[in-house]
Amino acid sequence: MMHIHRYYDVDIVNGPGTRCTLFVAGCEHQCRGCYNQSTWRPDSGVPFTLAMEEQLIADLQDQRIPRQGLSLSGGDPLHPHNVPHIRRLVKRVRRDCPDKDIWLWTGYTLAELTAAQREVIAEIDVLIDGRFIEAEKDARLLWRGSRNQTIWYLRQPQSEDAEQHAADGHAAEGDPQRARRERVMQHQ
Ligand code: SF4
Repeated sequence: MMHIHRYYDVDIVNGPGTRCTLFVAGCEHQCRGCYNQSTWRPDSGVPFTLAMEEQLIADLQDQRIPRQGLSLSGGDPLHPHNVPHIRRLVKRVRRDCPDKDIWLWTGYTLAELTAAQREVIAEIDVLIDGRFIEAEKDARLLWRGSRNQTIWYLRQPQSEDAEQHAADGHAAEGDPQRARRERVMQHQ
């Protein structure tokens, strides 16, 4: 069973718009300067129960507080222990909440993902990848902690995302290589 540390049913900090955000347990990257060391063990936190999953789906479908989507962070949602659980969850969100976007933060880079991890990525909209590197830390970055991390728009961005993408100077302008990679991914 997958464990989690926190669930926010209304979150405006982790990703664009109003979102549901799940912080899962389990991370093997051991980044220096990690502010989330308590999440490293996959058995830390509390079990993610079916009742919690049902609540998450109900929150995403809640019309009273419209959510733009789901953010998955941690810990690392793509820790091998979490992959089958996260894959099942994102498939369910796609099926039951087709108008919601899914953002996922991982310490692995896109290039080093295994086949099983890529099955998860196939279901999401946006991936923010790479370990946190203290020497490349930059508080001005949007959605990222350090400059080595990349925002991959894996599906056609919605207009609001596109604006935020453009507002993120480091992703769109400061690093032509990175901007090019992002364009390539958008067009796949
Ligand atoms: S990937 Fe994130 S949670 Fe994992 S060690 Fe690095 S900073 Fe911490």
